[in-house]
Amino acid sequence: MTDFAQFYRRSIDQRDAFWAEQAELIDWHERPRQICDYSHPPFARWFAGGTTNLCHNAVDRHLATRPDQNALIFVSTEVNEERVYSFRELHAEVQRMAATLKSLGVGKGDRVLVYMPMIPEAAFAMLACTRIGALHSVVFGGFASVSLASRIDDAEPVVIVSADAGSRGGKVVAYKPLLDEAIKLAQCKPAKVLMVDRGLVAFSRVAGRDEDYAAWRETHASTPVPCEWVDAEHPSYTLYTSGTTGRPKGVQRDTGGYAVALAASMKLIFLGNPGETYFSTSDIGWVVGHSYIIYGPLINGMATIMYEGLPIRPDAAIWWSLVEKYKVTSMFSAPTAIRVLKKQDPAALKKHDLSSLRALFLAGEPLDEPTARWIADALGRPIIDNYWQTETGWPILGICNGVEKAPSKFGSPGKAVYGYDVKLLDEHTGEELTGHHQKGVVAIEGPLPPGCMQTVWRDDERFVKTYWKTVPGRTIYNTFDWGIRDEDGYYFILGRTDDVINVAGHRLGTREIEESISSHPGVAEVAVVGVADALKGQVAMAFAVLKDPSRAATAQGARGLEGEIMKIVDEQLGALARPSRVRFVSALPKTRSGKMLRRAIQAVCEQRDPGDLTTIEDPTALQQIRDLVAPG
Ligand code: ATP
Ligand code: MG
Repeated sequence: MTDFAQFYRRSIDQRDAFWAEQAELIDWHERPRQICDYSHPPFARWFAGGTTNLCHNAVDRHLATRPDQNALIFVSTEVNEERVYSFRELHAEVQRMAATLKSLGVGKGDRVLVYMPMIPEAAFAMLACTRIGALHSVVFGGFASVSLASRIDDAEPVVIVSADAGSRGGKVVAYKPLLDEAIKLAQCKPAKVLMVDRGLVAFSRVAGRDEDYAAWRETHASTPVPCEWVDAEHPSYTLYTSGTTGRPKGVQRDTGGYAVALAASMKLIFLGNPGETYFSTSDIGWVVGHSYIIYGPLINGMATIMYEGLPIRPDAAIWWSLVEKYKVTSMFSAPTAIRVLKKQDPAALKKHDLSSLRALFLAGEPLDEPTARWIADALGRPIIDNYWQTETGWPILGICNGVEKAPSKFGSPGKAVYGYDVKLLDEHTGEELTGHHQKGVVAIEGPLPPGCMQTVWRDDERFVKTYWKTVPGRTIYNTFDWGIRDEDGYYFILGRTDDVINVAGHRLGTREIEESISSHPGVAEVAVVGVADALKGQVAMAFAVLKDPSRAATAQGARGLEGEIMKIVDEQLGALARPSRVRFVSALPKTRSGKMLRRAIQAVCEQRDPGDLTTIEDPTALQQIRDLVAPG
């Protein structure tokens, strides 16, 4: 064990020496000539001159040491299926898929769009792409046609890999009609559509375009496909941000830097050892799925669980039964999923032996204290928050227990992670805030460490303009999140820079008000937005989901609860922060990755157009709010 402060300092002050050491964690075909080329800021070229391959590092290199160990564990509570692939079997499947893609005309640098449910073939497709140097662009399965069409046009894929259907809560969602419609809408037409037929629904095939994977898999049952050695900076994939604050940004990731960053993070942050089992409950459509369902655990020689289904079906114990069955050592989930569990009986979590589990990691949105305490008590295992973005691909703030054991603090995702030169900047002057408990914009001094976005796909200008600020001699990356830092170097994220409301000249974070409201024992979840007000400039408006919705079933019940909640806010934050109304809904509008679409709620409250809603999970949740606030 080293001292974390020292370890961190070295990662910043002796950047190249530090990352040269971490680069030893992966296999290189040719070793890098330069560790970081930052001659054209803000563009960083990591491990320039080196050649490697992501799929080789995730799969092939384990064949010598652990061929028969579990690699991919697929569990579906939707179709009641469990399939386990060893590294040897995974290698064979990835080669079959890679040979098929090559037969369909995919070559190095080409894009392959993956529009799939959470099934092993989706993982095979991703790994097959990186194996042959093609870029995958995974689009969350079940996305509507219009959203899918815009992503097809952006990626211009040669091939789209898809499946007949996904399933959610036992309901089959046919993908093929959505895909056909999207291709019709798109300007760019893929040459081929490769269909995985799960046998869930019948679908029609377009002659000459649609191919059946089962047949190709037979054809290529034993066709060897060697890994294509690519430059460290060869793009491995593109992936969109969640679209919480506006039009999603297409993040482009490299190969060498990403492999090194993930390998290091598995050891230093996520406490994973080769041979163990990792369980991330995310979806492959999101960055957590890319980094910590597929690449991170596999690069680290671990088995990874891919779970298709809900956390509460057949019951709230399902995840924990998998922890017991597969002796999961590290688990990764999101606060939004924990809030779903929170509405269930905590006894479900006590039914299983969780002794293998070292920690539950959470990321994606603020982890409020009541939720953190609830899950910590229910599980009896450490809960470790971490903060990052699609753009960075791995944690910016966290607790690096693999370097030095450190306590977590409720409400804080931890300290700056090695490699990230994190700063807090004054909102108005842009000056660095060096004191404690000062509120500023979370920023990162360039270069971003390995694994972070290279650029916005095909739009260097948008990359530079959106994220970077140049002051003489320095380039600084903006996260668009507020934070403070305490005397121990722990950060607290206070929300997004555009989630601030201004009541009669006083600036309030919506997050603070939400935290206060969720301390009411009846509240399961809440969203607060600022709404234009003629008198005060803006007022806070709250929309809450109750643990027991029947409490607000009558007007009198709802009024009573609203009063109780307002009183709590009054006491905790003062009358200024008190929402003008607290309304009760059965669901809140979120992105498919579980993030609250506050900007859409705000727009609807102000009778404006909610803008880009391509990533919304359940449009009826927004409709409920629209109905509630409709004038008259
Ligand atoms: P878009 O950029 O398209 O608006 P998005 O920012 O929601 O969407 P993601 O990259 O999925 O897209 O999310 C990153 C954001 O999620 C962070 O900038 C931050 O606001 C929030 N976030 C992630 N982890 C945490 C955490 N542990 N605590 C607080 N907020 C978090
Ligand atoms: Mg973002």
